Amino acid sequence: MMTLGIIGGGQLGRMLAMAAARLNVRTVILEPQADCPAAQAANRQITAPYDDEAALDALADACDIVTYEFENVPVAAAARLARTLPVYPPPKALEVAQDRVTEKRFLNACGLETARFHAVDSAAELAAALADFGGKGVLKTRRLGYDGKGQHVFRDDGEDAAGVYTRLGAVPLILESFIAFDREISIIAARGTDGTFAAFDPAENVHRNGILHTSTVPATIDAAAMQAATAAAKAILETLDYVGVIGVEFFVRPDGGLVVNEIAPRVHNSGHWTEAACVVSQFEQHIRAVCGLPLGDTARHSDAVMQNLIGDDIHHLPRWLQEARTLVHLYGKEEARPGRKMGHVTVLT
Ligand code: ATP
Ligand code: MG
Ligand code: MG
Repeated sequence: MMTLGIIGGGQLGRMLAMAAARLNVRTVILEPQADCPAAQAANRQITAPYDDEAALDALADACDIVTYEFENVPVAAAARLARTLPVYPPPKALEVAQDRVTEKRFLNACGLETARFHAVDSAAELAAALADFGGKGVLKTRRLGYDGKGQHVFRDDGEDAAGVYTRLGAVPLILESFIAFDREISIIAARGTDGTFAAFDPAENVHRNGILHTSTVPATIDAAAMQAATAAAKAILETLDYVGVIGVEFFVRPDGGLVVNEIAPRVHNSGHWTEAACVVSQFEQHIRAVCGLPLGDTARHSDAVMQNLIGDDIHHLPRWLQEARTLVHLYGKEEARPGRKMGHVTVLT
């Protein structure tokens, strides 16, 4: 039997471990937090920091292959593991995705359009970048942002940019041009160890307070946009010589053109609908890809809406449990803090 190491013990690690078990793949989680969501689903947990060298060596000893469930795995940790066993997706994908400037340069080198951008390391650089974009733009931390944290939108209304810089500016920043989009979509795609490629249908995503609220399939986009999303994912995966599942987020312009927002070298929240509306989920697809198994069928047998259960949303659980055509998936978290992802539901429509 194969043993797969998973760095990170959150809900994505939990769902990967569940999918692995069904394919007779054993899992070992590396996660500093004891009693993490993945602990209940994995065969074993090594409870240590992600960059603990002894723990990494123990993980390498215990496993045949290592993967990860979040993009902020220390690159040095992934590189250390890669000396002795396959690490999928390749550590290069982490390097690209961890810094929004590196990420956009990489995407542009793949021939893909992104927002225009300036690296910002001082209040003066922010002023110059804002002037270049006509006073509008989205200022973000280059690293470690998620769920819209560490961001500020400038709307050309005379706001004090130096004040905003002081609030965000102890770390490297990026100013992105503001994209006036009609909608947002994402695509979940996979590449196997033999280079085969498979993509699920793009989902249309709605955010609330910076956090993904719903993902709906089919997305309201035309065939050309659908094809462009698939082609973009394929170009990214091939350029990275990638193995595993990736999530690619796009803005859709009013004319239907696509602008890549960001990539996530892992299974993605906007792909959770696949567990209800496809025979093979994104989680199983990732396990298949990194374990060198044939990729699964990505055909969608139903239309669906996935909704995240965030914080107090969990109090509606009794109602969700009574809904027809609804798959409920909870993450084993006790405390419903505001903004915390507690679970999700997928309604087949
Ligand atoms: P995630 O949880 O998806 O990783 P994140 O913190 O990395 O989120 P982004 O995806 O970069 O954040 O941005 C969050 C949201 O803010 C986007 O989905 C989009 O709605 C809006 N947004 C981000 N950048 C821009 C932009 N350049 N122009 C217009 N809107 C933007
Ligand atoms: Mg992100
Ligand atoms: Mg995003």
